[in-house]
Amino acid sequence: MAEIKTKNFLASSQMAIKDPQLRQALEKVGTGFDGARREAIEEISEAKWEEWRLKAREIKEHTIENLDYYLDMLYTNVTKAGGHVHFARDDNEANAIVSKLVEANNIQIATKSKSMVSEELGLNGVLESLGVDVYETDLGEYIIQLAGETPSHLVAPALHKTKGQVASLFQDKLGIPYNEDIEAMAKTAREILRDKFLNADLGISGANFLVAETGSLVIITNEGNGRLCTSAPRIHIGITGMEKVIPSLEDLATFLRLLPRSATGQRLTSYVSIVTGPRRVTDEDGPEQFHLIIVDNGRSKMLADPKLREALYCIRCGACLNICPVYQKVGGHAYGWVYPGPIGSIVTPNLTVLQNAKDLPFASSLCGACREACPIKINIPRMLLNLREELVQPNSNANSTSKFSEDIAAKSYTKLMKHPGILKLGTMILTGLQKPFLKGGVISSVPIPPLSIWTRSRDLPKLPDKTFHQIWKDSLKDNQDNNG
Ligand code: SF4
Repeated sequence: MAEIKTKNFLASSQMAIKDPQLRQALEKVGTGFDGARREAIEEISEAKWEEWRLKAREIKEHTIENLDYYLDMLYTNVTKAGGHVHFARDDNEANAIVSKLVEANNIQIATKSKSMVSEELGLNGVLESLGVDVYETDLGEYIIQLAGETPSHLVAPALHKTKGQVASLFQDKLGIPYNEDIEAMAKTAREILRDKFLNADLGISGANFLVAETGSLVIITNEGNGRLCTSAPRIHIGITGMEKVIPSLEDLATFLRLLPRSATGQRLTSYVSIVTGPRRVTDEDGPEQFHLIIVDNGRSKMLADPKLREALYCIRCGACLNICPVYQKVGGHAYGWVYPGPIGSIVTPNLTVLQNAKDLPFASSLCGACREACPIKINIPRMLLNLREELVQPNSNANSTSKFSEDIAAKSYTKLMKHPGILKLGTMILTGLQKPFLKGGVISSVPIPPLSIWTRSRDLPKLPDKTFHQIWKDSLKDNQDNNG
């Protein structure tokens, strides 16, 4: 399994906030991806978008409720098309299946298209330990492989890097002159990878969807690398989570409308590849063998929990990351495992160990923007609350300090709200106390905890000169004067 660093979330996010290059790289999340998503929705009307979202949710709900039935149908149809289906309970089983295939077929070179599940399994390390040369072929994945890093976003794995950082990386690792021109960098990567595509024995892909009625694996990409990985080498292994199955090609049409628009604001991705089995005798090309590895790795546990089952509807579009104020500030690596952002804060504790990821469900303001953006209407805030509830149960040893401070805060708030006199006095005192800390109309630094922690990375708005009660009283008085 990929290294789990979820315990470090607080320290890692504090470091991330102070990293100016990461700040610069993350600027494109909200304005770029989320802006493009909004424009794509405006183009087709809100009503149509809602209709597609409801349809997609209905399909996911139905499939996840009947997952055993559709997995069985998928198995039958992949086998009928000449492919082999392997079910893996966990990362060890999945890696063992791949290792066996690698050894049996004397694999030397493998090309990979983007697969989050292979990140989950730590598959590249396993292949390298068997002496296989592995090449990531998605440009973002290729960049982070060169850097020895992990993806920081579901759709854009190298999003955390500025173009200057990528230019330095290419200079160091590929021995080419420093050049920040994106076209030139892409051309260099293309030239290097073309040779690998032609010589690879094994192509590994993930799957955006698995179509049960035809036994097909569907991948959508913008670079065409997925198609080369799945058709040029003599063996193709598709690795994916068991929740990716959908009933039919007609259902696929709904997701093909939603996924690119939600991910990058595109109407359709450049390549939609539907792979059904290995090469037939009449085909000119294609792999001799097709293996589909369907991975559980903790998903059954989520399936069995009615409060968390909904997280399995996710199509990994990344829209909830792009709109999340927490992700926008800390980026993906701070979350400490493969799946970052709001959906990652639900999936990661469930696919790893909740107690070791106890800060993730709290890494949200519960503003609800993720649910609004999600094309499948997944109720992320509710599931985050469910996990928080589980973490603060009396038999849980998690967050005892924050439970204590939250208790005090809740009791103080209740007292204030019940006693208007105390509230009025408190407001007057705080309005006076804020004066020495005001700078440019905001409070940017207070040396006393807990406000010192808050203002370390954010500004506090100034308390207004007049309270709501005063404004209310004044307007009542004005009305009386005007009428009288
Ligand atoms: S939870 Fe929704 S918005 Fe987030 S990645 Fe999954 S499908 Fe996309």
